Amino acid sequence: MIKILANDGLHPDGMTLFDEAGYQVDTEKISQEDLPNVLPDYDVVIVRSATKIRKDLIDRCPKLKIIARAGVGLDNIDAEYARSKGITVMNTPAASSKSVAELVFAHIFSLCRFLQQAHRDMPEKGNTAFKELKKQYSSGIQLHDRTLGIVGFGRIGQEVARIGVALGMKVMPVDLVVDQADIGISVYNSGNVRLSVHLDTYEWEEVLANADFLTLHVPFEGGKPIIGEEEIEKMKDGAVLINTARGGAIGEEALLNALNSGKLRGAALDVYEDEPNPRQELLEHPLISCSPHIGASTLEAQANIGLALADRIIAYYGDDK
Ligand code: NAD
Repeated sequence: MIKILANDGLHPDGMTLFDEAGYQVDTEKISQEDLPNVLPDYDVVIVRSATKIRKDLIDRCPKLKIIARAGVGLDNIDAEYARSKGITVMNTPAASSKSVAELVFAHIFSLCRFLQQAHRDMPEKGNTAFKELKKQYSSGIQLHDRTLGIVGFGRIGQEVARIGVALGMKVMPVDLVVDQADIGISVYNSGNVRLSVHLDTYEWEEVLANADFLTLHVPFEGGKPIIGEEEIEKMKDGAVLINTARGGAIGEEALLNALNSGKLRGAALDVYEDEPNPRQELLEHPLISCSPHIGASTLEAQANIGLALADRIIAYYGDDK
């Protein structure tokens, strides 16, 4: 029987598929220190971001055939090394795109109406200084007709565009590779409208200069931030930056300076340079709407991830299990 260790958990929908197909899935969490003793017994390991599968652990597990990442990033897995040993490394890049895109708008809506600040003030002052708070938070903005710059027009970027178009925003994506993409918008009982978005008619600098909201959906593995001091300088005054991609893709020091100087209206962060201990200054900043890296963490995304991995692992073994 194929033995699977789902060390960071697995959605029950995925578990059901494995059960029905006759696989053994263990979900009891094994500590990183104990993995070298336990993992050699398994054919497949499924991890989220917590468990690290590094070279020395891979060397201890000659039986291991699949390392599956329930999510997107492979930062916690020595993927190239695993592949060089004949191990299949798989992830689920598409399963959470809609959830991440929706989180982007959760943050945008919050920032437009100062909800991140109002949520802090209302419990404390809501019934003693209601009128003052009402005045303080009365200069919110609408999204309609605002320009939405999207850096990276892949899976998530296109989902963000779809929502932006539906809200009446002027969508302005930029991508290193993609120069055209069709996005679909479905209307109940009226079918699916396809909208062709062309990116080859303007430059990156124009996106920086025009975006009221600029959201990042690109891979980032450290090094020079994609949006740093230089880029922020070229942005429209009063723009909003959103990072749900990877910590550091927007330089945190440059971001704080731009918020404190009044250059930017606000920022949203789901990801941080120093996870799991982000800078306190970011977390406390009244102009930052923040969340603890939950882009892919919805019930639907987790179910999609569980189902996608179970399908692929079962297909891998076919009748050989
Ligand atoms: P994707 O591969 O589908 O799209 C990325 C796009 O970015 C590609 O089209 C690529 O050509 C483009 N690109 C790369 N570098 C660029 C650059 N410097 N400038 C412009 N375009 C560039 O990826 P995706 O599935 O849309 O994911 C995007 C990001 O979202 C990834 O970094 C991923 O780690 C992150 N993510 C975060 C969460 C979360 O929990 N917050 C969840 C899922 C994914």
